[in-house]
Parts: sequence; C-alpha cells; structure tokens
Amino acid sequence: MESKQYSKRIRYLRRLILTTVAAACLIPTCICVILAIRYDRLSTKYEQSEADLAWYREKYGSEMEILSSEEEVNTDDSSFTGATTAEGMDVDYATIDVSGAQNPENIEGTRYVYLTFDDGPSTYTDDILDILAEYDVKASFFVCGKPDAKYTDLYKRIVSEGHTLGMHSYSHKYSEIYSSLESFKADLDKLRIFLYETTGVWAKFYRFPGGSSNTVTQVPVEELVDYLDSSEVTFFDWNVSAGDDYNGATKDTIYANIVNNVPKFKHCVVLMHDAADKKSTVDALPEIIEAIQGMDDTVIVPITDDTLPVQHINNN
Ligand SMILES: [Zn+2]
Repeated sequence: MESKQYSKRIRYLRRLILTTVAAACLIPTCICVILAIRYDRLSTKYEQSEADLAWYREKYGSEMEILSSEEEVNTDDSSFTGATTAEGMDVDYATIDVSGAQNPENIEGTRYVYLTFDDGPSTYTDDILDILAEYDVKASFFVCGKPDAKYTDLYKRIVSEGHTLGMHSYSHKYSEIYSSLESFKADLDKLRIFLYETTGVWAKFYRFPGGSSNTVTQVPVEELVDYLDSSEVTFFDWNVSAGDDYNGATKDTIYANIVNNVPKFKHCVVLMHDAADKKSTVDALPEIIEAIQGMDDTVIVPITDDTLPVQHINNN
C-alpha cells in the first residue's frame, strides 16, 4: 500500500518535472518568436522613416540637418529624385539641377529606354522576371549581396534570361560603404566576387546606393569613381525615377512618374526597385512596358558596354 502511494508520488513528481521542463523550453521560445516578429516590423518601419527623412532633407535642405554623421542614413536611391514625389507629381526636369547628368537629347533616331531595378534579389524578383519574359524585354538589375540560399537561383535566373547583372553594393549600409575609401573598396570587391562565384559573371556596372549625387558619403565621390574606373566598372545613375521608394507610392504614381517622363529624354535610364515592400512596382510594370513599347521609335534594352551612362556627377 505504501509502495503504491510512493510510486504514485514518483509519477506525479515526474510529470511535474516534465511539465516544468517543457514550459521552460516553450515559454522563452514563444517570447523569442514574438520579439523577432516585433523587431522585424520595427526595423522595416525604421528604415522607411530614415528614407523619408533623407528625402525631406534633400528636398528642404540644411534646415533639417538633424542627423549626425554617425547615424545610419539610409536615403536609398532617393537623394537625387526629389524630382518625383509620393503624390506622383509630374515635376519638370528642366527646373532641376542634374549636377552633370548626361542627357544627350541630341541623339538622333531611336529612343533607348533602360529599365533598371535596384536592391534585389527579393521576394518579387521572380515576378519581375516573369513579366519581363512575357513582354520579351531585357532589363538591368543592380543587386546587393544576399548569401542566403533562397536567393541563389534568382541571381542565376537574372543572368540566364539575358538581363544585365550590375552591382549596388554588398551591404547597402550607407554608414559602412561611405565611411572610407577602404570600406567602399572592400564592399565592392566582396560583391563582385560573390556575384562571380554565384553566377560566373564578372560584373562591370555599378549603381551607387543613393546615386553618385548622394549627400551621405564621407569620401569625395570622385575618389570612389576613380576606384571604379581603375576596376573597369562603369557607374549608372538615372534620369527617370519610378519614385517607388516613397511612402504613398502606388501603382498609379509609379506608372505616371515613368510614362510621363520617358518622352522627355532620348536616352532614359529608369530607376525602379526590386524589394519586398515594393509590390506596387511589380503591379505597375506590365502597363509601363506596354506604354513604352507603344511610344514611337522607342525600344527597351539592357545596359551593355555600349550604353552611354547617365551620371549625376561629372568626373571628367
Ligand atoms: Zn538601393
């Protein structure tokens, strides 16, 4: 009788211990998952706010000089494109100082349009590639370094389907890339080698995060350009922007920003983004391609060695 009670007690204790152990494992795991989700949401919001702030700084100038140089200033590619706004306002490029951008309006004949996508690969790269394939259009992708295996096939697909693979920095962290010439070099070389090992392509084209006219770099951009030159890399800015990196950008504003501005140039390098939070760009893409293909004497082509670059700074 006594031993029966004893074993009952043992069983009870064992259950108690197992429950405690299970709880000790499960509770922190749940907390971690919840915190990770919150962190992810907050960091997305943070990045968006930084980009917005940078855009306002660019637009309204030094009155908003409130970020110290220590801080991460993720302007993304919006520093130049005060030209297009979240409201999709059609801004007259003639009134904008393009700081040496080459706008060879005297080119005779065909208008060449270069669709370019920054920041990929992303969850939308496949969708973008599907659309480009559907319309038999080749584009140029200025990608970052994303070693996660889920991106490997996307890099390869960009190349195998005949698009141009360009570079847009490995880390996309302005505070790192632009802190010194050495870190710029290290970032560029890391990406170039990564892309070569992933796709077999020795990339030759570069887009500065924030463009060559970005106000973030601690190093004179001419020094960065000299390094690109010595590495036989050509950089491309843009003269038409989707404005898809602003809060409030919609399928309609993206369409309008591109389709209203392409006719102003004989040679258009169009900036768009391939990013998880830029679904509107994907939604707008088919109609953008149709509209451009419907323009007189206009072709959409990928960037090649023969492409005359659009550059915001003139390094000559
Ligand atoms: Zn970017």
